Parts: sequence; structure tokens; C-alpha cells
Amino acid sequence: MPKLYYEHDADKGLLEGRKVAVIGYGSQGHAHALNLLDSGVDVRVGLREGSASAAKARAAGLRVLTIAEAATEADLVMILLPDTDQAAVYDRDIAPHLGEGDAVFFAHGFNIRYETITPAPGIDVAMVAPKGPGHLVRRTYTEGGGVPALIAVAADESGKAMALALAYADAIGATRAGVLETTFTEETETDLFGEQVVLCGGLTALVTAGFETLVAAGYQPESAYFECLHELKLIVDLMYEQGISGMRFSISTTAEYGDLTRGPRIISEGVRAEMRKVLDEIQDGRFAKEWIEENAAGLPRFNELRKKGQEHQIEQIGAQLREMMPFITAGRQRIEDVSGG
Ligand code: NAD
Ligand code: MG
Repeated sequence: MPKLYYEHDADKGLLEGRKVAVIGYGSQGHAHALNLLDSGVDVRVGLREGSASAAKARAAGLRVLTIAEAATEADLVMILLPDTDQAAVYDRDIAPHLGEGDAVFFAHGFNIRYETITPAPGIDVAMVAPKGPGHLVRRTYTEGGGVPALIAVAADESGKAMALALAYADAIGATRAGVLETTFTEETETDLFGEQVVLCGGLTALVTAGFETLVAAGYQPESAYFECLHELKLIVDLMYEQGISGMRFSISTTAEYGDLTRGPRIISEGVRAEMRKVLDEIQDGRFAKEWIEENAAGLPRFNELRKKGQEHQIEQIGAQLREMMPFITAGRQRIEDVSGG
């Protein structure tokens, strides 16, 4: 049976008297810090010196310290830095200030799963991983809702690590939506698989290949863009609200017949075999090793591939077409305002 928790399951008292430090003020950081503050938690934000986010965090009513100061003061440290920067910052600015009875929290299991961070004995190690981007973690909270989250424990020295993770999840609003108990291994591996195979990698490759196929066959690129990219949101919204069958209820029977008979030809046995290979690389650590080495080398391949993506025809066409749909640009602006930094 899956262990799912809601508001009445959380022991809110566990955060009373605890000093929490949120390290980083990016997508997740700003959302956690502000939700904790509004939930009455004693929270401070730890930022590197000269951080551009410091003024924003202070203006929002938060106390801002250096990362080392925040880690010294706090007895619960949530690390919300980019995954590839966490290990160096942890070793230099956080680990020396953690002691017996303290807790270190993560929003993704990468560094614990692949052992780039190994907290000392005596410290609780837990995860509260919202299943959504930070701006939604913040917005849904202010609207009285929440983003679902996964919680897990890698080290339970206090005997209360899971309850503490649940209390933290409650304070950021996640118990309003549902909190699922998992492990660092399951969260890390399914998260990487999801983003590589379905949500990001699989999706962008599918959209691009569909667009290229139509353009190569002589159709207008504008037509291909609307068909393969723009309309995707409408379909995804229906799936998000009502599931796959609910989406199929809303499309024409012609579309549904094409979906049912052609979809499995696109995601063929060969594609499924490749999915399994991608999962193997995640499970045996090859992906993590490759990504850590790419970072160490200064991201040459990453930057080259990103640039190639930006120069693709679908992006030029899309930019022109979105200019004529200012309501879309307005939405994008709002996301950039609240995240990053
Ligand atoms: P982000 O890139 O939006 O923000 C990171 C913050 O760290 C920024 O404030 C940045 O200025 C700061 N920073 C970057 N490098 C630093 C360094 N070397 N030293 C000190 N500060 C530094 O990151 P994010 O997307 O919020 O991700 C944070 C964590 O949350 C990650 O573990 C990620 O996997 C996890 N997570 C993210 C999302 C998401 O949707 N963004 C969802 C769930 C979990
Ligand atoms: Mg992810």
C-alpha cells in the first residue's frame, strides 16, 4: 500500500522551536522560504556573498545570511542549490556547521543517491521533493492549495526524521495536495527517468521530429508549429485534469481512432527497449557520472546542444507566432519574475 499523507497526518509541532535555513533562493528556494515564513516557521535564507537574490528575499520579509551563518544558526538545513553545485557548497559551508541532532534536507535525491554528499553520522537526512516547479509551489500555497511532494529518509538518527519531513512538507503546503512516502533511490531514479524519457527529453524530441517530418514533406512551418507544439498544451491540460480517457472524450472520434491505432506504432518496441537502456544508465550511475564529468569540464557538450536547440527552425517560427499571441508572453513573464536568481 502506498503511504500517502494529508494535513491531518502532520505533527505541526515538530517545527516549533526549530530553526530552519533555506539555502538558495531560486525556483524552489524562494517558494519554500516564503511558504515556511507564512506558515509561522522560524526561517532564514542562506545565500552566497553578493547574491543578486538577497535584496529580493529581504524585500519579501526574510532574514538573509551567508550560507555558513545560516547553517550555523539552523538545526534544519534545506539545500536548494542546483544539484551539481551542492556537494562543493555542502563540504565547504554547511557540513562544518552541522552537529548531532541537526537535520539536512534535500528536494531531490541526486547527491545522496550517487554519494557526492555523505552527511556525517548523528544527522538526520531527509527529502521533501515537490512535484512541480517553484513558482507553482508558491502560487498554489497562496491560493490555499499545494503541490504534491515526495518525502523520504536516508538517515534517521533522531527516530523522528520522517515525521519531521512530513511537518516540513505540511509547512510548504504539500499535505494539502498529498505527500507520498518514497526512498531517495526511487525518487532519484524515477525523477531522472521521467525528465529524460517523458517530460523533457521524450517530449521535445517527439515535438521536434513531428515538426521536421511535416516541414520536410512540404507543409508550412507555421502549420507544423501550431499542430505539433502549440496544441500540445490543450491536450496536456485535458490529461492533467481528467486523465487519458478524459482527454479522449474531448477530442473527435477521428483523432481518438488515430491516437489508439498510431500511437503504439510511434512508441514502438524499439523505443521501449531504448527507454529501458536509459533507465539502466540511471540505475547503474552512468548518467550521474557523465553529468558530473560534463560539469567538471565546463559544460562543453551541454552548451553546444543547448545552442543547437535554440537555433532550430521550430524556435524561430515559434518566436514569431507567439509575438502575435501576447497573452502567452504575459504568462511567461510572470514565471520569470518569480524564479531564478
Ligand atoms: P535554481 O537554479 O532555480 O536555484 C538555485 C539557487 O542557488 C539560486 O538562487 C542560485 O543563485 C543559487 N546558486 C547557484 N549556484 C550556487 C553556488 N555555487 N553557491 C551558492 N548558491 C548558488 O534551482 P532549483 O531549480 O530551485 O533547484 C533546487 C533543488 O530543488 C534541486 O535539488 C532540484 O533538483 C530541486 N527541485 C527543483 C524543482 C524545480 O522545478 N525547479 C522541482 C523539484 C525539485
Ligand atoms: Mg525533475
